[in-house]
Parts: sequence; structure tokens; C-alpha cells
Amino acid sequence: MSTLEMAAGNSTKKLLRVQRGGEQHWVGDGFPVRTLFAYANLGPMISPFLLLDHAGPMEFPPTEKRLGVGEHPHRGFETVTIVYSGEVEHRDSSGSGGIIGPGDVQWMTAASGLVHEEFHGGDFARQGGMLEMVQLWVNLPAKDKTSPPRYQSISNSQIPALNLPGGYGTLRVIAGEFGGIKGPARTFTPVHVWDLHLASEQPFCLPTPEGYTTLLVVLRGSVNVNGSETIRAAEVGLFDRVGDQMCMESAQNATVLLLCGEPIDEPIVGSGPFVMNKPEEIKQAITDYQSGRMGRLS
Ligand code: MN
Repeated sequence: MSTLEMAAGNSTKKLLRVQRGGEQHWVGDGFPVRTLFAYANLGPMISPFLLLDHAGPMEFPPTEKRLGVGEHPHRGFETVTIVYSGEVEHRDSSGSGGIIGPGDVQWMTAASGLVHEEFHGGDFARQGGMLEMVQLWVNLPAKDKTSPPRYQSISNSQIPALNLPGGYGTLRVIAGEFGGIKGPARTFTPVHVWDLHLASEQPFCLPTPEGYTTLLVVLRGSVNVNGSETIRAAEVGLFDRVGDQMCMESAQNATVLLLCGEPIDEPIVGSGPFVMNKPEEIKQAITDYQSGRMGRLS
């Protein structure tokens, strides 16, 4: 029997709630963003994940201007940028930087702190076109929040893409593993990030780890889960940690991210670009940023 079929003895994760994304707002002048989930209201339920912003899809006319968001800090977590359309250029105070395009991923570990800027890529801006991307924030355990910053630029060609048996669609393993195939991103805690394109009205099941936080983020199309409930574009399904598979079908072609992660059982205290464990650590982060201890862009 295929791992994608409902196997006897497996237990299907229950859908606990469907979270509707917020209104679109601008991050700088380059990223029209909807926040689809955030720790501010979901807290430990979504640990180790903190936040997910979906930017676009939006058509930008050609411009010579630099569109985006200028110098700003981060400390205590990781930002994961996944580009679907367009180009994003990044530069940070640790000296890392680069341009990522469709299918590419930037996995940036802010950890002890850095300062960076995020803009549309220059060539993309001059030509104009469709921009669509996601930025996911992944928390770090307390012991790793003081690690040095790290930057993983992962190209589309490094990300294994597989066809789901039965013609259900395709799955790219960005982080973690699926069916023994490992994704390229290095993570601090066990996390699976799967980029799925679903193209089947036939129901199928995916093995998802027992005990992990499990979020189904629908970017386009809609997905029916467990034969009853529907998760539409700009909605996120939060599933029970109990159970070792998820069952779904796409009512129409769907682009989704499936996020599974081992919860980090530690307090979460955040403010803006800083996510720590205690209020004093947020005060310290603000002081450190203002005094230049997170670096500067030269
Ligand atoms: Mn940033």
C-alpha cells in the first residue's frame, strides 16, 4: 500500500480551527502583505512557528526606484523567504546577501541579531512583473537565540521536487524530509517545510509526525480536509498534534505550504523584530540595536 493511502492503524489529525488571514498592509513600499498567522494571538499553539506573511501576488510596473524595506534588525528567530514570482534582494550586517528568484528560498538565522534590508531585485524592478512571496518566522530555542547569525541561500535546483503517487500533485522538500527525501535547509529543531501544488479531487493522505504542530497554509485554490471542511486561499488550518497523517483533496488546483514542527516548550515574548523568552531580553535587544551591537549596513 502506498504511504499516501489511508493505512489501517494510522490516525488522522483533526482540524482544530481555520485561521483567516488579516487585511493586506504594506511592509515598506515593496511588499503588500497579508499576515496569515501570528504568535501574537496563537502563541504556543503554533510553536515553533511564529508568523507567516504572504506578499502579493501583485503586478509592479517597471521602475528605477528601489522598492522594499530599508535597514531594520531581527533577533531571536529565523526568517524564511520563499519566492513564487519576482525577485528579492537581501543584504545584512554580517556581510551576507544575494538575490533570490522563483522557487528559491532564503533561510536566514537572525539568532543573536543582525541588521538587514529587503528590496525587489534590480533587474526585476526595471522590467516590472508579478511579485509573490512568503516570509515565515521560525522560533529558536533559548539556547540558540545567542548563536551567531547564519544565512542559507537555497536555489530552486537544490530543492528536491517529487510527484506524489496517484497524480495528486507535486511536493518540494524545503526543510526536513518526506518519504526519506531530505530537504536542503539546516534547522535548529525538527521542522518540515513542504511546498505543495495539489491537482487532484481524489482524497489522499500524507504522513505527518505525531506530536508536531501542523499547519496547512493555503495560498491559492482551496483544500478539503478530512472529507468535510474546506480551507480556502488566505486561510490556515491548525491541526491536532495527535495523529500521524493528514487527509485532503483539492477542490481546485491549490498552492499550499505544509508546516510541521516539534513544539518548543518555552515562553515567547516578542516585540516587533525581536522574539525572546523574557521581557528583559526585549529591552536588551532594543538597547543593543540602538547602540550598534547588531551591526550596521555599510
Ligand atoms: Mn526583515
